Amino acid sequence: MSGDMLNNPDEVVANSSQKPQSHGNDRLGVEDNSLMQACWGRVNQRMRKDIGDAAWRHWIKPLRVSRLEDGTLTLEADSTLARERVSSQYADRLRVISSAEFSDVLPVIRRIEVRLVNGQQAVPNKPHRLSDQSTAPKTEFSASQESSDLMAGLDPRYTFANFIVGKPNELAFAVARRTAESEKVAFNPLFLYGGVGLGKTHLMHAIAWHIRQQSPSRKVLYLSAEKFMYRFVRALRFRDTMSFKEQFRSVDVLMIDDVQFISGKDSTQEEFFHTFNALVEGGRQVIISADKSPTDLEGMEERLRSRLGWGMVADIHPADYELRLGILQSKAEHAPVKIADKVLEFMAHRIVSNVRELEGALNRILAHAMLIGREITIESAAELLADLLRASSRQVSVDSIQKRVAAHYDVRVSEMFSARRARNIARPRQVAMYLAKNLTSLSYPDIGRQFGGRDHTTVMHAVKTIDSLSKSDGQLAEDVQLLKSILAG
Ligand code: ADP
Ligand code: MG
Repeated sequence: MSGDMLNNPDEVVANSSQKPQSHGNDRLGVEDNSLMQACWGRVNQRMRKDIGDAAWRHWIKPLRVSRLEDGTLTLEADSTLARERVSSQYADRLRVISSAEFSDVLPVIRRIEVRLVNGQQAVPNKPHRLSDQSTAPKTEFSASQESSDLMAGLDPRYTFANFIVGKPNELAFAVARRTAESEKVAFNPLFLYGGVGLGKTHLMHAIAWHIRQQSPSRKVLYLSAEKFMYRFVRALRFRDTMSFKEQFRSVDVLMIDDVQFISGKDSTQEEFFHTFNALVEGGRQVIISADKSPTDLEGMEERLRSRLGWGMVADIHPADYELRLGILQSKAEHAPVKIADKVLEFMAHRIVSNVRELEGALNRILAHAMLIGREITIESAAELLADLLRASSRQVSVDSIQKRVAAHYDVRVSEMFSARRARNIARPRQVAMYLAKNLTSLSYPDIGRQFGGRDHTTVMHAVKTIDSLSKSDGQLAEDVQLLKSILAG
């Protein structure tokens, strides 16, 4: 368990390529059976969502998972009808979902087989009760099988080509590309961080795909932090930390996604730290993502935090309007139905939370357009997306109003709190106060406090001023209207 064991990666790479995971198979077999059951549980949840409750209850729920061998996942059905129906109608979907759910912990699944099991007709030669350890599936990872396994969790759509670059993500994109393209270790570690749904996972997969294509011999391992912990805990439980370490020591590029989830778990942190050091010292590329910068990662040991920040740290900012629109346009372009620019602009204005939600909204619009066969208007889009729009208008905070207004008038956000009274600064500040009064439920004194501790009378005055000015000043009225619709609609 000490870091020393990891200090000579080259030696171990040779070992591990001769006999990958050579020991521990018997013991792992038992564990794999319960893993298989756990994975099957997840497959069930996904199926239920995908095919609906009724069909799931009828066809999928009664199935039992019995074994996974030679890439075939065997399921048991208790009637001929069920077997036929599942094989003909659900096998493909089951295979895809199972591959995704099982990919990280068990061998790859190429086929689904449904067997009939009812009393006497039980499967002939090999009786297999789930609790029977001797029939637990064998897990034999060959090197190549393992490497295709490694790629199994990667989303084929997450490539550099499909990544739209804008100001908020250009740095992250550039360093990700550099890292993927350079044969030598570029930045170590590369640390990507940003809020949820902003493209961290996309960029990591893109790096993996690129390396895979450009230099197929380099071994890339992509893994969520949770999976990392999962494997580690499993290794601990079966006193199999050696093969755990070997697995990591033999990679050229290690990517751990969402590393914040390692926070707080001491032994995993420790192990992660050693693995990390060993790889970096051995000249392997390490790529990390998290929702916060290294220094802000709570519950993480100081030495690990500071170590994580040694290489290149690149953040992804929330997508701005231009980027949101760009992403929508590029995704809409490949869609089978055309969505009017106006509608896309409307969406880009109003769905500000993150790119994932933006994608979801577009998919909903597209699905509707295809079903109805009528053109989508702003009104119908607003109706279709009502829940999302409400959700984002609920999020209106004084903070976001200040940022938005500052950006609109091209003044610093700090001017919102400053004492400066020049017109070109005071006016935007008043607009922001006016919007705060109109879009939030805060009182005048509350708002005053959030604008650098101003008096409530100042806020009242601002609201009155903007109200009356916008009656005579068309430009101002337009600005206010636009800001309002962007912020809350
Ligand atoms: P994160 O890992 O940061 O939570 P993801 O990488 O999962 O976010 O991104 C969420 C979704 O948004 C994915 O479907 C991804 O393809 C898409 N996405 C994010 N940023 C971009 C971008 N710049 N261009 C195209 N798609 C993007
Ligand atoms: Mg992610």
